[in-house]
Amino acid sequence: MNGARVAVVGGGLAGIAAALELADAGATVTLFEARARLGGATYSVRRKDHWIDNGQHVLLRCCTAYRSFLTRLGVEQLVPIQPRLRIPVLREDKPPAFLRRAPLPAPLHLVPTLLRYSLLGPRERVSALRAAAALRKLDPADQTLDLQTFGGWLRAHGQSDAAVAELWNLITLPTLNLPASEGSLLLATMVFRTGLLDAADACDIGVSSARGSSTRPTRATSASRPCRCSSCMVTRPRPRSSKPAYASRSARRCAARRDERSCSTKMRTTPTP
Ligand SMILES: Cc1cc2nc3c(=O)[nH]c(=O)nc-3n(C[C@H](O)[C@H](O)[C@H](O)COP(=O)(O)OP(=O)(O)OC[C@H]3O[C@@H](n4cnc5c(N)ncnc54)[C@H](O)[C@@H]3O)c2cc1C
Repeated sequence: MNGARVAVVGGGLAGIAAALELADAGATVTLFEARARLGGATYSVRRKDHWIDNGQHVLLRCCTAYRSFLTRLGVEQLVPIQPRLRIPVLREDKPPAFLRRAPLPAPLHLVPTLLRYSLLGPRERVSALRAAAALRKLDPADQTLDLQTFGGWLRAHGQSDAAVAELWNLITLPTLNLPASEGSLLLATMVFRTGLLDAADACDIGVSSARGSSTRPTRATSASRPCRCSSCMVTRPRPRSSKPAYASRSARRCAARRDERSCSTKMRTTPTP
């Protein structure tokens, strides 16, 4: 890539990751971002005494690409990962149930927690274990799995309404954004195998402790410093911004700072010599 000049449009996680990877490979990269900050969908806003987080809320230990990206930005310590999966599952008028992994190799790591999972009856727990073992045998590369719903497959593998609601949907809702009844078996296979069943520690959860909309942009800009990044002052608000006042304010601010070379809306990144 040495000598190549590349434009990356969009300074969300994908654009920042692409820009840094290209720069690390020797390209001279200009990253264009319409907003006055980097980070895209990941940001926090302050309302009086509260920080409201728009994500990225959690990651799993198996999210190796994202974790490498955080390391590249130098912020991996802001997303501590629990030593071993332990999630309390809260239901009104019931003591908390727990999903936690035992210090055993996969797939045995989930056997104790499923056998004790108090939101299901004893038969449902054993049946859930059987279904998990069957799910582990499915091939995430088999496209025919996409023709079935995960819910249909769970039913065919003896899972009750309670098991779907109290166990399987706990995972499909936040990962597929769908209940099992509507999710693809192919995607569920990928999620469950990668995140829970294939490796014992894959499921440990990291929770972001970063707050403030400036965290990722600042880090993204500084991450490019070793590559001799220079930040340019030209902002490119979208032609039909839903927030014109915001866009024009940011344009004015960037124009005013043009000589200070401190705005992150257009980031030029040159490779390390
Ligand atoms: C509420 C919420 C919670 C989430 N929680 C999690 C979570 O816990 N774990 C997880 O893994 N994922 C989570 N996600 C998903 C994750 O945040 C997104 O998948 C990810 O941030 C998307 O990044 P992106 O770079 O692809 O897109 P975006 O973040 O949308 O970035 C696109 C960028 O491109 C810019 N852009 C667009 N068009 C132009 C143009 N023409 N010129 C210049 N710039 C342009 C936009 O302004 C934006 O900054 C969550 C998402 C949301 C909304």
